[in-house]
Amino acid sequence: MSATTSQELPVVVVGAGPVGLAAAAHLLERGLEPLVLEAGGGPGAAVGRWGHVRLFSPWRYDIDAAARRLLEASGWAAPDPDVLPTGAELVRDYLAPLAATAALAPRIRYGTRVVAVARDGADRTRSLGRDRLPYRVRTVDAAGEVIDVLARAVVDASGTWGQRNPIGTSGLPAVGEDAAAAAGLLAGPLPDVLGADRARFAGRRVLVVGMGHSAANTLLALAELAEATSDTRITWAIRGASPRRLYGGGAADELPARGLLGSRLRDAVEAGRIELLTRTSIERLEVLDGGAAVRVGGSARRGGVDGLLDLTVDVVFDATGFRPDLAMLREVRLDLDPVIEAPSALAPLVDPNLHSCGTVPPHGERELAHPDAGFYLAGVNSYGRAPTFLLATGYEQVRSIAAALAGDRAAADAVELNLPETGVCSTDLAAEGDTAGGAGGGCCAVPAGPRPVTLGVGAPVGVGAGVGFATGVAHGRSGDGGCA
Ligand SMILES: Cc1cc2nc3c(=O)[nH]c(=O)nc-3n(C[C@H](O)[C@H](O)[C@H](O)COP(=O)(O)OP(=O)(O)OC[C@H]3O[C@@H](n4cnc5c(N)ncnc54)[C@H](O)[C@@H]3O)c2cc1C
Repeated sequence: MSATTSQELPVVVVGAGPVGLAAAAHLLERGLEPLVLEAGGGPGAAVGRWGHVRLFSPWRYDIDAAARRLLEASGWAAPDPDVLPTGAELVRDYLAPLAATAALAPRIRYGTRVVAVARDGADRTRSLGRDRLPYRVRTVDAAGEVIDVLARAVVDASGTWGQRNPIGTSGLPAVGEDAAAAAGLLAGPLPDVLGADRARFAGRRVLVVGMGHSAANTLLALAELAEATSDTRITWAIRGASPRRLYGGGAADELPARGLLGSRLRDAVEAGRIELLTRTSIERLEVLDGGAAVRVGGSARRGGVDGLLDLTVDVVFDATGFRPDLAMLREVRLDLDPVIEAPSALAPLVDPNLHSCGTVPPHGERELAHPDAGFYLAGVNSYGRAPTFLLATGYEQVRSIAAALAGDRAAADAVELNLPETGVCSTDLAAEGDTAGGAGGGCCAVPAGPRPVTLGVGAPVGVGAGVGFATGVAHGRSGDGGCA
């Protein structure tokens, strides 16, 4: 195919999540033709899976600028910028209307899963003329039909929701973990404990594994459930030595809502309503009684004493974070960091070994580029295993990528985020994390470069359980690594 015809091909965007749809809006503004390929049946399919959770970022940070312009031209009324939406509201009041605009609707294919990306006519090893070749994007539709789409560039905004980290140690599933999952004994990262899934967990013995955002939300919801159904038994297992990072700074926290939520979690643990196991290593899961319960084996510290873990529960909440699925990119020449699987230039900015807070400098196309020109990971996918991604960061990523694809290098490089500095980072918490085995750095020890900014104002004071847990330190390390 000639270079000229390649330029006439669409830019394929993988995923109609918040970042994928924002990418399409920016590409359209730049006069480029987007084609969004979405595995789910509608926009925001992954967000819909955690629709009952309230975001910690108010609307003002959840809406992309180009998407807003498209929406406003269609007569859309913007939500109150200071309100914190739930995931379901993000889909209903923003993503669904955006995907339905006359400009975007015909450019989105639902029920279309991307299974592979390659250079058209060249496998990964072939270099000659590679840069002139378009991309071949292989898709499978709901009926199982395989359809290849040619693209001048690819923005992979497919997220990480489908690929949770295992609960076993060493990044590997525990022995028997797959069987326990198949038997329905793993609840997934964010079930609707106080809503649709309430009956499944009320009065049960549950184990929550993890020390990030999802674990915190789930524990607070379970604690509330246990107040109503006193026979609900909650055990919480973390890999680190202390949960203090997740508790936040309490009354001294500059984010009152985060302090409140963290304090509630700490109170529930200290009151004995949640039993805490630290330094937990889960090695085995055994399905009991044909799937009625699961026996969890390994080691843990209980009440300050190290020992064997042998616990039988009705369900395990695997709130262990997510990792990208890179299998479909096997034929693309990627430059990924060996630690967190993010683009190499972005990785030092987001690696949780270097940052124990949610502060990430703005970044754009240059940091997201790969050896195969015109291919980008964007959105939460671009952070690899780092847990601190924020929507506003992703919107700036795709603005910069669209500018670069349109040949506007100056605009692509003018990356900026005008966000409030919340000061969520706490030196005390970082120090605690370090003593618990974290790798150096300390909070906000970011490399020299653009001024770090932090988004996230926490949930309003007085909110109930099940609302979004603020980011920053609370997001913690991917998969709750050794750093508490
Ligand atoms: C519970 C929770 C609360 C959060 N709260 C906040 C917050 O308050 N503020 C904030 O800034 N961020 C928040 N985040 C982080 C982040 O902003 C969200 O995860 C956000 O959804 C990421 O958007 P995305 O478009 O990158 O990916 P996703 O929303 O995951 O979208 C990816 C899309 O790609 C589709 N897809 C996946 N694989 C394929 C494939 N192979 N082919 C085609 N389509 C595919 C999926 O169906 C999905 O629609 C939160 C995350 C979680 C989990």
